[in-house]
Amino acid sequence: MAHDHSHQSHQKRSALTKGARVVLEALEQTKDLASAQDIYGALRANGDKAPGLTTVYRSLESLVSLGFVQSVDLGDGEKRYEVVTPGEHHHHLICERCNQSNHLDQCLVEELEDGIRSKYGFLIKSHVLEIFGICSTCQSQKD
Ligand SMILES: [Zn+2]
Ligand SMILES: [Zn+2]
Repeated sequence: MAHDHSHQSHQKRSALTKGARVVLEALEQTKDLASAQDIYGALRANGDKAPGLTTVYRSLESLVSLGFVQSVDLGDGEKRYEVVTPGEHHHHLICERCNQSNHLDQCLVEELEDGIRSKYGFLIKSHVLEIFGICSTCQSQKD
């Protein structure tokens, strides 16, 4: 029997609130991971009726729970966000010098999850894995 990891994958964008749609569109235009403040700032820079910071936070939470957005913890107390395909998730390589992040194109721990399931009988619902270090560009620069 296959575990259904993607039970939220049939969510439709059209069902989102207006605020959530605006936040999702802003997030899609940022290349890097963005904090709620970043998104709020970008929306305000676009002018007209930008949602308030509280709405941005609330919209992000609902987008995360619906699976449209992944929250990423870089360990500095401020969550970052990224658009994902509903039901999918990313792992990131985060450079401690330039703060740039790249996501890996595949999950690294699916086999590990299978092993944990069979050894401990544990029903895994999610996992977090971010990798910190120095990117190749920064390694080639002398300081
Ligand atoms: Zn770097
Ligand atoms: Zn994974």
